[in-house]
Amino acid sequence: MLASAPRDVLGRPLRDLRVSVTDRCNLRCRYCMPREVFGNDFPFLERDELLTFEEIERVVRALVGLGVRKVRLTGGEPLLRRDLPDLVARLCRIDDLEDLALTSNGVLLGRMAGELAAAGLRRVTVSLDALDDATFRAVSDTTIPVQTVLDGIVAARAAGLAPIKVNAVLQRGVNDDQVEDLAGWARDTGVTLRFIEFMDVGTTNQWKRDRVVPAVEVADRIAARWQIEPIDPDHPGEVAERYRYTDGAGEVGIIASVTRPFCGTCSRARLSAIGELYTCLFAAEGHDLRALVRGDADDTALRASVSAIWSRRDDRASELRAADGLQGPRVEMSYIGG
Ligand code: SAM
Ligand code: SF4
Ligand code: SF4
Repeated sequence: MLASAPRDVLGRPLRDLRVSVTDRCNLRCRYCMPREVFGNDFPFLERDELLTFEEIERVVRALVGLGVRKVRLTGGEPLLRRDLPDLVARLCRIDDLEDLALTSNGVLLGRMAGELAAAGLRRVTVSLDALDDATFRAVSDTTIPVQTVLDGIVAARAAGLAPIKVNAVLQRGVNDDQVEDLAGWARDTGVTLRFIEFMDVGTTNQWKRDRVVPAVEVADRIAARWQIEPIDPDHPGEVAERYRYTDGAGEVGIIASVTRPFCGTCSRARLSAIGELYTCLFAAEGHDLRALVRGDADDTALRASVSAIWSRRDDRASELRAADGLQGPRVEMSYIGG
């Protein structure tokens, strides 16, 4: 670890960064961007408010200087950001950045996978909450067929973006009947599947605890169909509880953000599309780095500011969550990325 790498109040280093490149999306998943709120008149960010690619690169370089080793591009839907492969190419050139990944809903991957791979991207995570077309359309509130996402995954693999991870958020009574189908499909196609508990991110998604499908239930259902055994995390700060299929058909993971929170090892910061640094997914506000980047702060001053922000961090919202969920204002998931 670098001598200048800050630790927060709870001793956690800064290792991971999620970079949101847009707050817009081509789906309206009801647990993330319900159409009643994110409708035609929603005040999405204007283009000139967004950090430019040069500015994003500068912030990422500063954070790599403080210990960040993994960056994930996200959104909104990151593939909607014009010329995204140019940003990928810029970030790939940063020394000491060990891993650059992207999370996408997959709708535009069929068109863009080749270009992203050519720009240097190596990995992609696709969000897919159902294989059943009607369920997919209902969850994502879209007329786009699930086949478009499946084709996107095929294109990503053909472009060499592998191994491919797929994230599925489960909601009781909405798509929890998809567990075995998704797991079976992932085994057959060789993608790494992660089930995620539905979280009370933001304040617009009508979260209720009884809609959360607990990780233990998901693991039991998978174990009832296939023999699995737990395996160790593959890196410090790994958030998924991982299981290996004993017949050799890969692994499956479950992210128990609600029922078994992992704040104790959380080394993740998030950068909004307009350059605010959030130290927790459930924070109400971020710290404005754009003002620094567009002002006269040099790289040393930028690093010092972020270091001071991180050193004061004491977030552990998921560990403090009451039975009926978090209270108070919270930033929306589509604004800072999952
Ligand atoms: N649009 C891209 C996508 O869907 O992959 C990237 C951004 S999206 C906000 C990132 C991830 O957050 C997705 O995997 C999504 O399923 C997840 N997500 C959004 N709202 C969530 C919630 N309330 N609980 C759990 N995960 C959520
Ligand atoms: Fe869009 Fe991703 Fe949110 Fe779905 S989860 S609405 S695809 S940002
Ligand atoms: Fe990290 Fe905040 Fe999530 Fe805890 S609640 S794991 S501190 S982002």
